[in-house]
Amino acid sequence: MSETTVIHFVGGGPGDPELITVKGMRLLKEADLVVYTGSLLDEKVIEYCRKDAEVLNSASMDLDEITGVMVRAAREGKKVVRLHTGDPSLYSALREQADLLEKEGIPYRVVPGVSSAFASAATLKRELTMPGVTQTVIFTRLEGRTPVPESEALSSLAAHRATICVFLSASMIEKVVEGLLKGYPADTPAACVYKASWEDEKTVKGTLSDIAGKVKEASITRHALIIVGRAIGDEAQASLLYDKGFSHGYRG
Ligand code: SAH
Repeated sequence: MSETTVIHFVGGGPGDPELITVKGMRLLKEADLVVYTGSLLDEKVIEYCRKDAEVLNSASMDLDEITGVMVRAAREGKKVVRLHTGDPSLYSALREQADLLEKEGIPYRVVPGVSSAFASAATLKRELTMPGVTQTVIFTRLEGRTPVPESEALSSLAAHRATICVFLSASMIEKVVEGLLKGYPADTPAACVYKASWEDEKTVKGTLSDIAGKVKEASITRHALIIVGRAIGDEAQASLLYDKGFSHGYRG
């Protein structure tokens, strides 16, 4: 890693402090300044930080404030970690921060993390791709303050019947279901995982026809991922990769 890299965007993982990468943990332990996304990160991940490190919750800061403190610290030669939940490549506003750093000529790197999509799949003990069912996963969200392009309406994405992971939308579960029913049959398996990998994790399972009611009943409105598709159901289908009659590069 380059000597001059002083700012690291780190994927903090879905919550469980053991689900951050070894590299991410090391960078947190070494950091002089840590700016973390307060709303969704388990305080236990923050406990990796040095006692004398400056640790800021970005919940009440705007973009200029966040990049401002990071740039100042970097110019003073301090080690900076910008800690995001899950993986920084999904719904993290990484790009707008990175663009500002580039303008300021501050070198930075990105360290991946375990997305809540993968933590939720682990909770469900399911593969998101399954032979004969789907080989495609869609990550999406409903429109909130951030607009979603019209061509990506749930009703359009539903036509593919792929496994679909809907972020940031648990409070609008009825709207999610309404959109998906334009393409998926009503008996398609659906699940909602609240706080995947946290101690108070909760899972609600059903089908598109009853998941909305179940999510409401469980009072889940935030911090949850909705996953829909036949792959997360109970039908099993063995992968060709391990089939006796299927030879590949490693097994003749
Ligand atoms: N970069 C993050 C996503 C940030 S957007 C990632 O890769 O997971 C925030 C949304 O992520 C939440 O609204 C919720 O939909 C989802 N989320 C984050 N942590 C979660 C968790 N532990 N369990 C379930 N969903 C989670």
